[in-house]
Amino acid sequence: MSIRNWFALSGVALLCLCSAYPAQAEWIYREQSIMGTRCAVELWSEDRERAEQAIESVFADMRRIDALMSTWKSDTQLAEVNRLAAQQPVVVSQELFDLLGVALEYSRDTAGAFDITYASVGYLYDFRQHVHPDPQQIRAALPGINFRYVVLDPATRSIRYTRAGTRIDLGGIAKGHAVDRGIELLRQAGFTRAMVNSGGDTRIIGDRFGKPWIVGVRDPDKESVSFLRIPLTDAAISTSGDYERYFDEGGQRFHHIIDPATGDSARTVRSATVIGATALRTDALSTSVFVLGPERGLELVERLKDVDAVIVTPAGKVLYSSGLAPPEAGADRSTTGQSKPTN
Ligand code: AMP
Ligand code: MG
Repeated sequence: MSIRNWFALSGVALLCLCSAYPAQAEWIYREQSIMGTRCAVELWSEDRERAEQAIESVFADMRRIDALMSTWKSDTQLAEVNRLAAQQPVVVSQELFDLLGVALEYSRDTAGAFDITYASVGYLYDFRQHVHPDPQQIRAALPGINFRYVVLDPATRSIRYTRAGTRIDLGGIAKGHAVDRGIELLRQAGFTRAMVNSGGDTRIIGDRFGKPWIVGVRDPDKESVSFLRIPLTDAAISTSGDYERYFDEGGQRFHHIIDPATGDSARTVRSATVIGATALRTDALSTSVFVLGPERGLELVERLKDVDAVIVTPAGKVLYSSGLAPPEAGADRSTTGQSKPTN
């Protein structure tokens, strides 16, 4: 074989090798509807098949968490807890037990603004069917709200309620937990640049090759418009808004974030965005800040030090915690830029 032919042949062999192992590095984005909301994963991968597998493992884990903790389905562990815990202790999985413990800690840290027993009244709402409890129903069910009625026993890994009529719901924290789990799965699989999102909760690892990820915060009144673009690397961000599950009636908005003190929808904030290290923390705190309102919400964020917040008030004012330099003091949300919203 002449030298020239050898080069030609080895060139063909090299080409074949390349097509058998395509080293095609790319960003891959996938989304699915899970836990009653849109969930998404985006990551940088050099192996499409491994990436698809990893993304599917994240979605599968979200479905697993939903099957454990949803109160929409009657066959979940959490539904069983609500059926039985006022009569007897109910043994739960370590994961659920730990998350319940975290939820109770947030209740203590927020003076009860974050309270999973909100569901004692919350179950009387059906936002799809435009149903809300009347004042008499709220009066009757409100005494069931108090996180102190939830007793966790680490020795038996069980939960019990000390008051009949108490119910719980983890909707304010479960998605953040699922997002953190998703990031952990991707990390374990070796991915170093990734984003996991579930509804209003997002966590990011790594950057976009020297640039940060950009997460948009949507205008509460316009689904496809973001009033703020936040650059993030290795961080989590959650937004709680009154536009996620709601209906309007008689000039009032009934939505899914309930003030445990009144049993009514919290109405002093339109959206609360919290930025921090984990999605569990930002999820719990975005719901908390929403309930606390602009003043007490910002106070909480300043006291905690490891998180930042952006609040949109009913008048359309945008308030920032001290760690975020405002684009201009008192900026109106309608005057700033646009990007892909978080939810
Ligand atoms: P998020 O979108 O994270 O603010 O979560 C809203 C969800 O949290 C609601 O759909 C309820 O399941 C739950 N929730 C509502 N009010 C409260 C509250 N005061 N404390 C804890 N969870 C709540
Ligand atoms: Mg939340």
